[in-house]
Amino acid sequence: MKADNGQSEDIPVLPGTSYRVHDENRPQPPVVDPDPHPSDAVVLFDGQDLSGWQSKKDGGPPSWQVQDGYMEVVPGTGNIRTRESFGDCQLHLEWTAAAPAEGDGQWRGNSGVFLLGLYEVQVLDCYQNPTYPDGTTGAVYGQYPPLVNACRPPGNWQTYDIIWWGPRFSDQGELVRPAFMSVLHNGILVQYHRALLGPTRHKKVATYYPHAPVGPLELQDHRCVVRFRNIWYRPLDLAATAT
Ligand code: MG
Repeated sequence: MKADNGQSEDIPVLPGTSYRVHDENRPQPPVVDPDPHPSDAVVLFDGQDLSGWQSKKDGGPPSWQVQDGYMEVVPGTGNIRTRESFGDCQLHLEWTAAAPAEGDGQWRGNSGVFLLGLYEVQVLDCYQNPTYPDGTTGAVYGQYPPLVNACRPPGNWQTYDIIWWGPRFSDQGELVRPAFMSVLHNGILVQYHRALLGPTRHKKVATYYPHAPVGPLELQDHRCVVRFRNIWYRPLDLAATAT
């Protein structure tokens, strides 16, 4: 009789599964090489060009600049979005605001990361720069302040890691389940499984309206100089893994 591999009939079956505790017949997790980015990730920006992006305004090539492995907002040229649409995912990106800092409050390194082009995680240089909490760095804009302010001083690269689980609507367009979002800023948890109120609004309470489960990733031109690099996502089947 094997005592430690889950094959023994003496070892109980785990609830909700057909596997015993420590069962060697349970499927192995897929192998993902984590470097330089996860091997199952879709790279949206690798520092070379903006061929996978378009202007939100007219669908043409973006006017943002690419140099030295990053893209930089050209103020006044408008938001840009990926040509590709995608849904539930783990998203990674890096950003940095102008150094030395320029402007105050919402005018210091303001940009934004919009999931599905609709739901904004605020990008802002809030290092020693207070503003309204639901609009600070790592906020779900207009809804949830971050748990902490994890900003590095301006000029340093900062990371966002976002878990996005989009909302679902019935065939009649009624909300079945809200969107959920978790965010780590520089590896520090700032949003945990927040149930969102709806697509981002300015000075209004967000409410849902039916939309597709997929959409582009959009980055904001808020007329501030902000740089982005190393943008990728991993598609996730969160409905299959959530309990
Ligand atoms: Mg913004």
